[in-house]
Amino acid sequence: MSASIYLVKGREKSLLRRHPWIFSKGIERVEGNPVDGDTVEIYANDGKWLARGAWSGSSQIRARVWTFDKDETVDLDFFIRRLKYAQESRDPLIKRQGLTGYRLCAAESDGLPGLTIDRYANFLVCQILSAGAEFQRELITQALRTLYPECSIYERSDVAVRKKEGLKERTGVIYGDTPNESVVIEESGVKILVDIRNGHKTGFYLDQRDNRQAAAKYTEGKRVLNCFSYTGGFGVYALKGGAKELVNVDLSQNALDIARQNAELNGLDTSNTQFIRHDVFKLLREYREKGEKFDVIVLDPPKFAESKAQLLGACRGYKDINMLAFQLLAPGGVLLTYSCSGLMEQSLFQKIVADAALDAGRDAQILELLSQASDHPIGTAYPEGFYLKGLVVRAR
Ligand code: SAH
Repeated sequence: MSASIYLVKGREKSLLRRHPWIFSKGIERVEGNPVDGDTVEIYANDGKWLARGAWSGSSQIRARVWTFDKDETVDLDFFIRRLKYAQESRDPLIKRQGLTGYRLCAAESDGLPGLTIDRYANFLVCQILSAGAEFQRELITQALRTLYPECSIYERSDVAVRKKEGLKERTGVIYGDTPNESVVIEESGVKILVDIRNGHKTGFYLDQRDNRQAAAKYTEGKRVLNCFSYTGGFGVYALKGGAKELVNVDLSQNALDIARQNAELNGLDTSNTQFIRHDVFKLLREYREKGEKFDVIVLDPPKFAESKAQLLGACRGYKDINMLAFQLLAPGGVLLTYSCSGLMEQSLFQKIVADAALDAGRDAQILELLSQASDHPIGTAYPEGFYLKGLVVRAR
């Protein structure tokens, strides 16, 4: 018999709206003794069945819903079904853009809380972030092996949030081969090297795919500054778009080395490309002192806000770099600016960028509103799934 949890009166509302999280404060009592990851039945205070989810005894998010369908059991078929449905939504994209790297499963937004899976060529890279997904690791592996017999499975659960779920960080082969230092993926004819074992996240920022493509529209004959370049994704597209000069900046030498290899792998001329290891905050100021100007600037910083407490500081950080960028833009220049902090709402981000333009004394216009690529869907009941915002802004 699985354990049951009964919610505090009124706390069923978010579940009725199909939001998949149950917070510890929303639970009145637990019947049975679930261990972390156990599948539990979730009831409203009046005894009405609401959902079936995974228990997480030490997390603030005490349970995450697997299903709102009473007849659906959480077994191998469940995971196969969910993953198949997720794959089907990616298929047209894969075909149209010739993708060999894509996000197969975006956790809550794909109905599999705590489970992110990215595919890079024939490697499936899993990030397991919840006690429930951890508990089901074996079934998830089996489901993946059933659906993708050609693929190896690698784990990159080296993320601090696992601690909140009482889990230790873990990486390594789950099934099949160990990935080489760099696995090549393709998107719209562009080749990208991905370091699955040591790269950021699961190796690459797949979410920026459409935005990289958007960038290429603005770079013909231009001087381009790619800030927080990582392995040079935006830079490769900038060169493909005909940039006459490119500066990639990042703190990580390893990322910059791969950025150079990525440019070369695509047969691009790097004689006018610099790979600078430096702090973007400092470099932008140094450029300002020297009176340098750029026609196109990409600002794709790491997440500045991990928690609500950090949001104000994050706002300052975004304001600062965006203002500096506006100061460095040549007349008619274009800034592509992003925020991947989920806590930063689109409207607030837009306001910050507008203020930054104002402070830099620039008259600016938004040319494009951008977001995460569609293989990073946003569950309508799970607005938290919307995290990547981008603006293309032109300044007089
Ligand atoms: N634009 C990249 C992803 C950027 S991720 C892409 O499309 O693939 C953020 C990057 O910022 C990381 O590579 C990290 O090394 C770098 N970084 C973080 N803080 C930095 C700083 N202060 N100055 C320069 N780079 C920084």
